[in-house]
Amino acid sequence: MSWLDLPDGTGFGLENLPLGVFSTAGSTRRTGVAIGDQVLDLAGLTGDPVHATGSLNAFLALGPTAWRELRERLLDWLTSGRHRVAVGSQLVPRDEVTMHLPVEVADYVDFYSSLAHAENVGRLFRPDAEPLTPNWRHLPIGYHGRAGTIAASGTPVVRPCGQSATDGVPSFGPSRRLDFEAEVGFVVGTPSPLGTAVPVGDFAQHVFGVCLVNDWSARDLQAWEYVPLGPFLGKSFMTSMSPWVVPLAALEAARLDPPARDPRPLPYLDDAAHPWTLDLALEVRLNGSLVSRPPFAGMYWTAAQQLAHLTVNGAALRTGDLFASGTVSGPARDQWGSLLELSQNGAEPVVLDDGSSRSFLEDGDVVTMSATAPGPGGTRIGFGEVTGRVLPANPVR
Ligand code: MN
Repeated sequence: MSWLDLPDGTGFGLENLPLGVFSTAGSTRRTGVAIGDQVLDLAGLTGDPVHATGSLNAFLALGPTAWRELRERLLDWLTSGRHRVAVGSQLVPRDEVTMHLPVEVADYVDFYSSLAHAENVGRLFRPDAEPLTPNWRHLPIGYHGRAGTIAASGTPVVRPCGQSATDGVPSFGPSRRLDFEAEVGFVVGTPSPLGTAVPVGDFAQHVFGVCLVNDWSARDLQAWEYVPLGPFLGKSFMTSMSPWVVPLAALEAARLDPPARDPRPLPYLDDAAHPWTLDLALEVRLNGSLVSRPPFAGMYWTAAQQLAHLTVNGAALRTGDLFASGTVSGPARDQWGSLLELSQNGAEPVVLDDGSSRSFLEDGDVVTMSATAPGPGGTRIGFGEVTGRVLPANPVR
């Protein structure tokens, strides 16, 4: 039991203890822990410069022993009455802080690991072909994205301009098919040497924690620039990341056995002994209307397999690497994680609570994604949210 008065049903109880980077009026950026409705200032409490750098990278680089030790100390600080005065003086109400990007993102990879999403997109973009490419069930497909345009939650997304084509004739202008993708992100702490692969069983030695990602996507730019549907300018204008990184250690109660896979993956992707399917329940809101509830537990490839695959050629990991799951879509219509799917590429617009409808995002629209997971003893682990508003395109000279 904590000496803190934690609100009923808080997703930020003692079981969670996510890390983020915050500032208050006049303060520098520092590492904090979300607890109930407050943030514990780790820089102020410990005086440790590792928590005063303005990103989690320096702490994440210390590795799993340091991650575990901090968690044990946090539990002691927040439960032993003898720490009440010292720790209490370093608590700030969460509604008084500004949250920042939690990590300085090193490399960014985005996967494509939901079977329902890959089939939906395949049918919409390549109606005359098999929805799944021949490799899809053999490896987690992904691409290297643009780390420098990953933005903190709350950063507005400026509608991108670019080329799109109608019947093969290109034109230039603001995207008319701006979309979101609801995804789960994984933050790497421990690096790996160039030329070595990270086995699927070493996942928790390298990955510190989990966040939410909105992979904003311009479908019209994407469909023209790189057929069949590779990602470049249709994706790189901005990607949003939630402020709180939930440690893997908080997600033990959320672990499930992976879904059945056919055919059986090659040995380096065999995760029978290392099940990292996570039972996260996502929600996507558009202007406040609940438009989707994507279930992360159904993902075909797990983050442990994704990490094994992205390093199997010897690519090195760096502290601060972020890799995202790919759009999370379940089999049911109200579980699809993008407007492309929800509106069937504009053929069946989504109706919002205010009676308006959307095929794709309009200027001024606000997209907010949140998630929870089961915690120990019937508790819930909260992920907070990742949100962003669409701003009109800037003129291109
Ligand atoms: Mn994506």
